[in-house]
Amino acid sequence: MKDQLRKNLDEVIWNIEQARIAVSEHHIVKLVAVGKYSSEESIAALYELGQRAFGENQVQQLAARMEHLDHLPLEWHMIGSLQSNKINKLLELRPTLFQALDSIKLADALNQRLAKRNQTLNALLQINAANEETKSGVSVEEAVDRYQEIQERYPHIKLKGVMSIGTHTDETQAIQKSFESTYKIYDQLRKNGATICSMGMSSDYELAIRCGSNLVRVGSKIFK
Ligand SMILES: *Cc1c(COP(=O)(O)O)cnc(C)c1O
Repeated sequence: MKDQLRKNLDEVIWNIEQARIAVSEHHIVKLVAVGKYSSEESIAALYELGQRAFGENQVQQLAARMEHLDHLPLEWHMIGSLQSNKINKLLELRPTLFQALDSIKLADALNQRLAKRNQTLNALLQINAANEETKSGVSVEEAVDRYQEIQERYPHIKLKGVMSIGTHTDETQAIQKSFESTYKIYDQLRKNGATICSMGMSSDYELAIRCGSNLVRVGSKIFK
């Protein structure tokens, strides 16, 4: 198992390296390994290989893994949609970054609970870059306004940038377009302190990096 993981990780890191160098030597990209299809043993093995940042898309699974792997100095990202009945559980876990803040309604609910707990949460605003009905997130047109609104109204949420999931299609052009519009928003929000542009999964992380992503969330290509 570990040999396979090493091979996969080496390949992903190599590809990230090629893509980022093509942008600029100074373009640094963070890899978050998404463990949702894998086991805790695989995550521990990946830690041994040097990987530190991991992502989960369900609060329940995130909680179990954070608990069982508590002895390792890992960084945990919540990357999936958050239901309101899971807010308290997520806040208890104090994740490094919540990447899927997808509405003002959720920001409002989070801020109230955070205030009660005297806590802050690092988060990314999720953008539905191709206006797909099946995806959550704010629209491209509204993104900058919503970002600023959250910063003004919800002081317990510390926005760090944006996240988006590439359009679900085989057409590279359409995926690229969705990454480009997300990057454009990110670029506009730098003056508001945005430093993270999270785009790219197993099927499209190299393209995402070429479009300016500086955080990729890769699961199956590593853990398969
Ligand atoms: C599952 C998931 C990923 C990783 O997907 P792969 O295609 O397995 O790399 C990335 N981001 C989010 C939001 C996910 O839910």
